[in-house]
Amino acid sequence: MAMKTSKEYIESLRKLNLVVYMFGKRVHNVVEDPIIRPSMSAVAMTYSLAMDPQYEDLMTATSHLTGKKINRFTHIHQSVDDLVKKSKMGRLLGSITGCCFQRCVGMDALNALSMTTFDIDKKYGTQYNERFLKYLAYVQEEDLVCDGAMTDPKGDRSLPPHRQSDPDMFLHVIEERADGIVVSGAKAHQTGAVNSHEIIVMPTITMREEDHDYAISFAVPSDTEGITYIMGRQSCDTRKLEPGTMDRGNMAFGGHEALIVFDRVFVPWKRVFMYKEHDFSGHLVEQFASYHRQSYACKVGVGDVLIGAVQTAAEYNGAERASHVKDKIVEMNHLNETLYCGCIACAAEGHREPSGTYYVDTLLANVHKQNVTRFPYEIARLAQDIAGGLMVTCPSEADLDSPDVGKWVRKYFAARNGVPTEHRIRILRLIENITMGTAAVGYLTESMHGAGSPQAQRIMIARLADIRKKQETAKRLAGIVEDKDAVREA
Ligand code: SF4
Ligand code: FE
Repeated sequence: MAMKTSKEYIESLRKLNLVVYMFGKRVHNVVEDPIIRPSMSAVAMTYSLAMDPQYEDLMTATSHLTGKKINRFTHIHQSVDDLVKKSKMGRLLGSITGCCFQRCVGMDALNALSMTTFDIDKKYGTQYNERFLKYLAYVQEEDLVCDGAMTDPKGDRSLPPHRQSDPDMFLHVIEERADGIVVSGAKAHQTGAVNSHEIIVMPTITMREEDHDYAISFAVPSDTEGITYIMGRQSCDTRKLEPGTMDRGNMAFGGHEALIVFDRVFVPWKRVFMYKEHDFSGHLVEQFASYHRQSYACKVGVGDVLIGAVQTAAEYNGAERASHVKDKIVEMNHLNETLYCGCIACAAEGHREPSGTYYVDTLLANVHKQNVTRFPYEIARLAQDIAGGLMVTCPSEADLDSPDVGKWVRKYFAARNGVPTEHRIRILRLIENITMGTAAVGYLTESMHGAGSPQAQRIMIARLADIRKKQETAKRLAGIVEDKDAVREA
């Protein structure tokens, strides 16, 4: 097969027997659920664009394992060009869906594991990389969506995994068998979990020797026995249950996150990619996080949609010529393109690792993600400034359609001549959706905490910024000659 159509992707999800709960009830038809469906449609775009000749160059790649054409989301980066295309692909999909399209976490997990398994084998003579490559060939051949599951619930943050009062606060091995391992625990905030065929589990922090039961990585089919998904709520989520489409903001797409519970889940050895090599847990976390920080190219694409919506709202209001409105839109573009610089730069400065996989520049990937924790908030603030208060005080679509009050809504919320009131409300609902509705989960809160909260990037920036070299240059230019021994002692 090697590449699925979007229709085949949706059909393949129907065959899964996932245990999903939402609002306290089991969801029996996940694919048709009106709240989940828009998130599945967003993932489906990663398939349909790959079939579109216009986007073939960005959306597909040649497998280094089989030489076959594959979806880029299952590809292991073989060049700097691949890394740059990955960033461009993220912006493209964000700009088409206006939301989180979820498939990047799996791509980032696959690429990180392609390096970590190789590095573990080199030190310990294990055979994880060979196992992993067999698994990768399966993922590529079946064109699967993988959920990259890293974030554990973590319990008491002051305690390491082995000292938690509840040992399941970090996912861990509870039994070792001849044919595999049994694991328990959970992964929280999992993007796209119920739209995935596979769950790839990785440790969430650097583990010490005492925590080696927690230093594990593996992959399981998403409907493996013992796995339960509990869907996260999003602001305005039940608008998707209402008749009509206007109040949803985004007509077609959305994202989702879920808590994934692993209750005594069996994993065969052939799907285990790290087993108690605690000294490589931090390595895997850092590699996955750096790739995923690059992946926040998606926010640039969503920013494109938001800027387009704001310009439209300004025109509908007759305000687009006001100098402060023009200046605010310039500022939004400036911030958005600055974000784009970061995700392109960390890719363009990427390098080849010993495994052959190309890896982003980690300092620049962290700087990019740090900008992502800030700029979308400022872009959203400017968007709300230009949109005006109607974005949050506007009556519902049902009122607009009401035989009693519809005429008043149309009359009093009309703006520029010739612009239907409905169009004005629709564009404001889209701005609401991205800055405070369902899509704000991805555009704002995930920008803050996804791929690591801001402090995680600051720690990396402090580590990687090579401050000593900068000091040496400064001192040399200033004519400072130091007694090296005295400085070392100090
Ligand atoms: Fe991909 Fe962005 Fe969603 Fe993360 S937030 S999965 S990078 S689209
Ligand atoms: Fe994310």
